[in-house]
Amino acid sequence: MSSLVAGPSLVEAYLEHIRNTCLVGTDGELADYIPELARVDPTKFGLSLALHDGYVYSIADADVGFTIQSVSKPLTYALALTHKGFELVDERIGVEPSGEAFNEISVDSKRRPRNPMINAGAILSASMLLEVEPDVDRAFAELLEFYSACAGRQLVLDSDVYNSEMRSGARNRAIAYMLQSFGVLQASPEAAIDLYFRQCSLIVTTDDLAVIGGTLANGGVNPRTGRRAVGQAVVQRVLSVMTTCGMYDGAGDWVTTVGLPAKSGVGGGIMAVLPGQLGIGVYSPLLDEHGNSVRGVAACKRLSADLGLHMFNVARESRVTVRSFHTAAELDIDTDRPDTDRTDTERRYLRGKRDRIRIFELQGDLTFSGTESVLRRLRATAQEFEVAILDMTRVDHVDEVSRSMFVGASRNLKGAQRSAVIVDPDGVVVRRSAHRSEPGPGLEYVVTTMHEALIRAEDFLLKLAVEEG
Ligand code: GLN
Repeated sequence: MSSLVAGPSLVEAYLEHIRNTCLVGTDGELADYIPELARVDPTKFGLSLALHDGYVYSIADADVGFTIQSVSKPLTYALALTHKGFELVDERIGVEPSGEAFNEISVDSKRRPRNPMINAGAILSASMLLEVEPDVDRAFAELLEFYSACAGRQLVLDSDVYNSEMRSGARNRAIAYMLQSFGVLQASPEAAIDLYFRQCSLIVTTDDLAVIGGTLANGGVNPRTGRRAVGQAVVQRVLSVMTTCGMYDGAGDWVTTVGLPAKSGVGGGIMAVLPGQLGIGVYSPLLDEHGNSVRGVAACKRLSADLGLHMFNVARESRVTVRSFHTAAELDIDTDRPDTDRTDTERRYLRGKRDRIRIFELQGDLTFSGTESVLRRLRATAQEFEVAILDMTRVDHVDEVSRSMFVGASRNLKGAQRSAVIVDPDGVVVRRSAHRSEPGPGLEYVVTTMHEALIRAEDFLLKLAVEEG
């Protein structure tokens, strides 16, 4: 049973459910072009969600490290854009989806790599950093500092993977030399390959990928550290390219079904971004024929569909969903009316209990992330109240997932000897027919005015007092 104050939250319980549904089957293969990747445990599964305020939900193997591989490509591209400027980068790396495999040896009619998410474009992005700082160690130190700023913690290199990549990188070397022969790669091809393999070999967890995604979702400010890691214009460009090219040949299907800018890597990681709202990190090392994590893709599809995360799921979301937060003691509403049938003792008791009724005044359109932040606040302050009144008077729309989250929360409150009363005059949470209200299971207390809500809250406090003796 998930209780209100201890145990998994609604969101964690839901993420566990995603894990259970996605872990079935053994589809996919481990990457085997180097022995280190073929040796990992195929049953590992990590899933993390970083919210815009820096809160991170993580489940299962969210602390298991794996190499970032191609999830690094948007970051190095961001760094190249930052150092060289858009114009110089655009002359040499295209932004068109290629519909080809990640390691395809291909360029467009101007002999530019088609985009920065395939190896050719990624190696070229790395080489541009060497045009600014030709020493590989120093260029890598700077790259590492940047990646770490995006993740909000110091990342480190997996030197076994790096050495192995360096030994077996014939195809990537071929790409680098080809680009050199076309005159687009101007640094040393060997140095470019070296830097590219180091970036691919950085160890991350799904928490890291979620926070990096959260940084992009936040317009470049890391939600954990509050520090700007990437410029806003660069973020916009990077997210655009991730949207059209991030999932390789599966990009079109990805945009229609998941609808989130994302990047996968052969290490088994996927990072996805819901602009303005959240970052997702998922890990499962079994890969499909495109080199995308099979279960990672499945998890993203489920998350997007269930939580309404598609970026074109248009809602008038306002970041500030809790408009105000106070106790009934601070309200100027008199419930001490004769028609409530209270005895003097009851009235006295209730006067002393008014600060145990918390009122959350909500506003805007409620979709997953807004509702999540309301419910997290409810959970964090649960010791301070017996009854929570959720005032929906200023809420215009509640989506399906948020509605069921409110039902779940009110059920959890009940399990924890507490209660939720919802003030819903326009029927946004509970659709009302002309003749009767139909709150349905889990939402017993739905009323139309704050006055009624307070009376319900007091009834509940009295009932509790009787039960507790
Ligand atoms: N290191 C790998 C390569 O360059 C990364 C590829 C990937 O993750 N898609 O081949």
